[in-house]
Amino acid sequence: MSLLVVALIGGCGSSTSTAADRSDPALASEESTTSSSSMTPPTAPSTSSDAVPATESPTAAPTPTIAPHLPRPLSPGLAGKVIVIDAGHDGGNASHPAEINQLVDAGNGVTKACDTTGTGSFDGYPEYAFTLSVAQQLAGTLRAAGAQVVMVREDSSGWGPCITERARIGNEAHADLAISIHGDGNDTPGARGFHVLVPVATAQNATMVPAAQRFGTLLRDSFPATGMPVSNYLGTNGIMARGDLGGLNLSTVPKVFIECGNMHNGDDLALMRSAAFQQNAADAIAAAMGSYFG
Ligand SMILES: [Zn+2]
Repeated sequence: MSLLVVALIGGCGSSTSTAADRSDPALASEESTTSSSSMTPPTAPSTSSDAVPATESPTAAPTPTIAPHLPRPLSPGLAGKVIVIDAGHDGGNASHPAEINQLVDAGNGVTKACDTTGTGSFDGYPEYAFTLSVAQQLAGTLRAAGAQVVMVREDSSGWGPCITERARIGNEAHADLAISIHGDGNDTPGARGFHVLVPVATAQNATMVPAAQRFGTLLRDSFPATGMPVSNYLGTNGIMARGDLGGLNLSTVPKVFIECGNMHNGDDLALMRSAAFQQNAADAIAAAMGSYFG
């Protein structure tokens, strides 16, 4: 159980981190801008107060304002397309520190951990559960539109796969488009909103970068319909180019990441843990894909 606690407090794509994050490199995320290559396995915080700052109360979350259910996009352009959906992290990562801390070549001269635990809310809602829920609903919408969906993971019972494998799955599927779904965990006061992570050109991915950037812009434009605002703490107008992510550096097919919101912000979290927002997030991603394929 103590390892599960660790999994719930780790930063995801944050530019800042908790004291626990800084002392525990295993909590640094594939998306983290402050990730470490240390092999140190996770260790539990010594007291519960380490994990739950006094300013955060699980019972103080505001009532979310959920946007009405978005129209399901059934763009004819989605029919027959191969789309890879990569739900970030996995439920067993925290209990497999040796495996997820193994170093891998993330491309572009970067070496980093196989995967990370991801982040979560202070009261125990994990990022890996959020990402899987959105991924599953997105899969349903895309399949209804005639797309061929490949899921990187179907449940939260395993660990990994490594970021190298997450990229390889898309490449070997010859995906027309791939997306990695995440939630952030940033402790900067007032930091909230979503942002899209797009690739920069590397030796492996150069041919797909323009297409990924185009999709990233469409996704940035579609996602505010969920009620989640554009990030006020990372990126520029909701988009951030990253050359340190294995999932993007090693992908030969157009791929972006989305940080759907900040799970350490009460307003964002209230949205993110609601089934209605998760469905809307899936619909917004599908709408952007429909626009991408015309
Ligand atoms: Zn993540």
